Amino acid sequence: MTNRSWAERDLRVLWHPCTQMRDHADFPPIPIRRGQGVWLEDFDGRRYLDAISSWWVNLFGHANPRINAAVGVQLAQLEHVLLAGFTHEPAVRLSERLLALAPPGLTRAFYADSGSAAVEIALKMSFHYWQNRGRKNRTRFICLSNSYHGETLGALAVGDVALYKQTYAPLLLKPITVGSPDCYRRAPGASCAEHAGRMFAEMEAALSRRAEETCAVIIEPLVQCAGGMRMYDPVYLSLLRAACDKYQVHLIADEIAVGFGRTGTLFACEQAGITPDILCLGKGLSGGYLPLSACLVGDDLYQAFYADYTAQKAFLHSHSYTGNPLACAAANATLDIFRDDDVLTRNRALAAHMGKAAASLADHPHVAEVRQQGMIVAIEMAKNKATREPYPWQERRGLRVHRHALEQGVLLRPLGDVVYFMPPYVITPEEIDLMARVAEQGIIHATK
Ligand SMILES: *Cc1c(COP(=O)(O)O)cnc(C)c1O
Repeated sequence: MTNRSWAERDLRVLWHPCTQMRDHADFPPIPIRRGQGVWLEDFDGRRYLDAISSWWVNLFGHANPRINAAVGVQLAQLEHVLLAGFTHEPAVRLSERLLALAPPGLTRAFYADSGSAAVEIALKMSFHYWQNRGRKNRTRFICLSNSYHGETLGALAVGDVALYKQTYAPLLLKPITVGSPDCYRRAPGASCAEHAGRMFAEMEAALSRRAEETCAVIIEPLVQCAGGMRMYDPVYLSLLRAACDKYQVHLIADEIAVGFGRTGTLFACEQAGITPDILCLGKGLSGGYLPLSACLVGDDLYQAFYADYTAQKAFLHSHSYTGNPLACAAANATLDIFRDDDVLTRNRALAAHMGKAAASLADHPHVAEVRQQGMIVAIEMAKNKATREPYPWQERRGLRVHRHALEQGVLLRPLGDVVYFMPPYVITPEEIDLMARVAEQGIIHATK
């Protein structure tokens, strides 16, 4: 079997996510035969460095021996059982461990099977909490411009990336959208912290005017990933926590992308020393192995649902594969690696190396900014470096980088014109150098 034969069969029967299928008439999908560490290998024997962790899910490499073994042991024991009326060891252990590791004050774990589902749950829980507490007017959510929280209808509604949202706008809840603290948009000479402080005035105004109709504020802590890896100062999170307390509105932290060490700390919220009312986890939670997500909540939230059955206060949300034992076993093995290998310390050295390897790109005439938060480095291309005028989106410059990099054996998948690195934590300094070199060549090629 070759790339070509699989691609041909694929194109007769599959419809791929996030893809204009017409594009595949010229560039067929790449059939992957196996993965090992940061490397993916296709059916023609070509290898690709997975610089984006297969959509930000993989933490410790493909075919990680420790996670493989743990999933194998669980597979021999129990593949799945419903989590309503029943429980199992992997879910109990995982809940104990997540709650011990998460910011203080979170005491319950509710599971689902995708990040979007976790966001749906967070929105419904917050709304339902206020219903159960008799605050029936609270039906709105506050979100940030340029945010992304998934693509099911509820999650899409509280996002703000037009590419995904615009078409479906007539179907969606209407959130209250507040300007993002995105530091790329700071005034010349301002620091990220100053910019975040200034932008917070808009949030404060929205809360002071609309708190009585608002269930929750939902944000991605520190990095708006799908929005182009835009980053902001942690002071915004501290201010937001204080304001949500003051106005008695829930704070939902969507750490689906930034959780599990991506920003340098295990959870991004730690960098502001805050605890959200609901913490959404997904992606890296299972080490990138199996679909699993969770909402962690505190006791006040939990108790609002705890009553005699006839009071009709229970949270009746469910998914068939909620808390799947194989996925929980992969998650437990992932947490074992964090515990045993001092991952965050090792990542600090890798992050420093990534920063150094990408630094020279800042001098490129069509790179407007190189920015970094822990294990995420983003390189923003622009038509005009000084004014930051973007390239017309129709030119698809990022796609040119993607295709160029694939030829060189590196999987980069720019978000628009933002090239970024978000590799598995098992990457070596030499592999980082390769990734940066190929990105640089790709950017030179794409901006010619
Ligand atoms: C990816 C992502 C989601 C959605 O997760 P899925 O598993 O793709 O549904 C939600 N929020 C953020 C911040 C994400 O990056």
